[in-house]
Amino acid sequence: MATLKVLCGRIGLQGLFKQGLRPVCASPQARSHYKQIGQQDDKMEWRPIMDRAATAIFWNDLFKGVGIVIGMAMKEPATINYPFEKGPLSPRFRGEHALRRYPSGEERCIACKLCEAICPAQAITIEAEPRADGSRRTTRYDIDMTKCIYCGFCQEACPVDAIVEGPNFEYSTETREELLYNKEKLLSNGDKWEQEIAANLQADYLYR
Ligand code: SF4
Ligand code: SF4
Repeated sequence: MATLKVLCGRIGLQGLFKQGLRPVCASPQARSHYKQIGQQDDKMEWRPIMDRAATAIFWNDLFKGVGIVIGMAMKEPATINYPFEKGPLSPRFRGEHALRRYPSGEERCIACKLCEAICPAQAITIEAEPRADGSRRTTRYDIDMTKCIYCGFCQEACPVDAIVEGPNFEYSTETREELLYNKEKLLSNGDKWEQEIAANLQADYLYR
């Protein structure tokens, strides 16, 4: 009969005898040399489990974050280096106001006061009188830029494209008084930005 050494207690003795096996029990002295090769799960506590999970999550998130930073560094930036770089502007952009002239140098404005009447913020003040040649021109054209809400109604109402909101948006001031524009200031704005204003009006003429 083949001799099979099995440890006492692993299977029942009765079962061994039924199968014709003869158990040989290890002595207590031999058992002292056994080594534990599995995880001692019964001794595992919650604290080390939580510590291990927290460490795994921390490293996982750390590597994810580093991956996102490297990925974004390789991409084209979403921001621009203002004021050295400027983004595109719509032809309909409503910026600083300007009064335009005809190529001859004559003022376009005919002092009809439609812009003054339509301005919901009552920011425009116009005074006018007829000239010696019979034409009607303004003697005063003021816009209080601190009242203006940039609705664009004045531009829409003007029958001769005289008052416009140009593409300039860089006109911040240090004092409130500097934002009370008179006719000279508005005409000089028109002279300065005429090229851009004319190009914007041309680009949008189908919709006006
Ligand atoms: S943009 Fe509007 S609020 Fe400003 S001056 Fe023209 S009509 Fe008045
Ligand atoms: S700017 Fe235009 S709407 Fe205003 S008074 Fe002059 S012509 Fe009339």
